[in-house]
Amino acid sequence: MLDTRNLGATVNAVNEAFLFGERISRSEASKISTFIASRQGLPGNYGGLFAPAEGELVSSYRLFTGDSVVMTAPAARHILGEESLSILMVFDIRTPEVQSAIQRAQDRFGENLAEVRRTGYGIGTFCCGKCTVAYWRALTTGWIDDAEERIRAGMVNLATASQPEKPVSYCLMFMCPKA
Ligand SMILES: [Zn+2]
Repeated sequence: MLDTRNLGATVNAVNEAFLFGERISRSEASKISTFIASRQGLPGNYGGLFAPAEGELVSSYRLFTGDSVVMTAPAARHILGEESLSILMVFDIRTPEVQSAIQRAQDRFGENLAEVRRTGYGIGTFCCGKCTVAYWRALTTGWIDDAEERIRAGMVNLATASQPEKPVSYCLMFMCPKA
């Protein structure tokens, strides 16, 4: 499950296990969390989140549902960062290195979101449909204080959305309980 040369592959393997209800031992969760935490704030990170390994974004990602997605690098790095944060929150490994990496990501990315809110933009969505689902999925872990309010606003946006690229299948992931 853990691939220390590829954060995306690791995140994908964990999410697949979550989706199919496979058990992940605490020792494996701890190793995975330590690796994810080690990627916080490294070059290539988005908004203080968790950076892909070098060369990882050369090819485009395929969404977990199998949908092929051509991603711009910032979107891919954003989605990867949000999914990484979600996994750390769900595993809840209480070592100082993991907890401090979560805290730094929360501080930096939380400040980005707070800044967007202060400027008057909506809080229910992120830049595009694909990024928005990753944003919602991370919010369900309660990593930020106003997560519920953000999800509530997002569900109104989802109900009224008309953008052609609304990622319906990836939205299903949002509905799936984790762990
Ligand atoms: Zn986007």
